[in-house]
Amino acid sequence: MKPARFDYVRAETLAEAHAVLASEGGDAIVIAGGQSLVPLLSMRMARPGVLVDIMHVADLGGIVIKDDAIRVGATVRQAQLLAWPELAAHQPLLALALPFIGHAQTRARGTVCGSAALADPSAEIPLALVALGGEIELSAAAGKRQLAAKEFFNGLMSTSRNDDELIEAVHFPRTRPGDGYAFIEFARRHGDFAIVACAAMADAQGVRLAVGGVADFPTARDFGPLDGAALDEAIEDFAFDLEARDDLHANAAYRRELVRQLGRKTIDEARRCRV
Ligand SMILES: Cc1cc2nc3c(=O)[nH]c(=O)nc-3n(C[C@H](O)[C@H](O)[C@H](O)COP(=O)(O)OP(=O)(O)OC[C@H]3O[C@@H](n4cnc5c(N)ncnc54)[C@H](O)[C@@H]3O)c2cc1C
Repeated sequence: MKPARFDYVRAETLAEAHAVLASEGGDAIVIAGGQSLVPLLSMRMARPGVLVDIMHVADLGGIVIKDDAIRVGATVRQAQLLAWPELAAHQPLLALALPFIGHAQTRARGTVCGSAALADPSAEIPLALVALGGEIELSAAAGKRQLAAKEFFNGLMSTSRNDDELIEAVHFPRTRPGDGYAFIEFARRHGDFAIVACAAMADAQGVRLAVGGVADFPTARDFGPLDGAALDEAIEDFAFDLEARDDLHANAAYRRELVRQLGRKTIDEARRCRV
């Protein structure tokens, strides 16, 4: 199939992108790396009147350390963040999770913020944002706001972004001395979206596990210093609270079992990695 007709605006400035989004209402949408949007257009699952290409807006690039976070601008491609020499030193979880996103070819085009905007429940970047307590920087002609990841992702491929807003950047908290991280995902083949993905972060206070691919959006739970059978029981409760559903790839019981097994393994690994 071919996409339905649309107008194309190549924005050169952020103000231009904001102006088109404001004037067209929900009929205009951003295109970034196009890795998810182009197939959706071709299948006519998305039929926008206007595509606003933001990839030529100079202000939207850059990976910058800002206070205690890594700020990743809207045009930064997944491969660029993965190749950033300081990535593992500033945030080991990203260095562990990013290689699981699609393939080298899709990472070379797909953006970090585009993945957050798409909000696929199995996607690694939304999962990392929720696991780490990251933030989403949204902007529109009317102004800016910054939302915690756990408030931003609010349903199945649904976010709190308004139609006139774009994601200007995402913020990943930097690692602190003594933190440990682990990431494990199960997919049919490497490069497929995860059936279940687990990210864990351990510090002196305890451990947090975030799970993708089960609930409608990535979800995190803090387990404090729990260990042994008590931890297994708490993970069991978490697995049920995620309200897994059956789909083509796996049924709900199988997903819960993956959360039990991989969740525990990811937590143990994060604790082992504490330095
Ligand atoms: C074969 C294949 C395998 C893949 N496997 C995985 C995988 O395993 N894990 C994974 O996470 N992803 C996977 N993906 C998806 C890939 O990571 C996409 O690149 C990403 O989800 C979207 O980024 P993009 O820059 O290409 O966005 P686009 O395709 O350009 O846009 C996607 C959506 O986000 C919106 N959008 C994009 N940027 C912004 C912004 N700055 N502000 C507001 N809205 C915006 C668009 O309007 C659109 O609705 C795969 C894709 C392919 C083709």
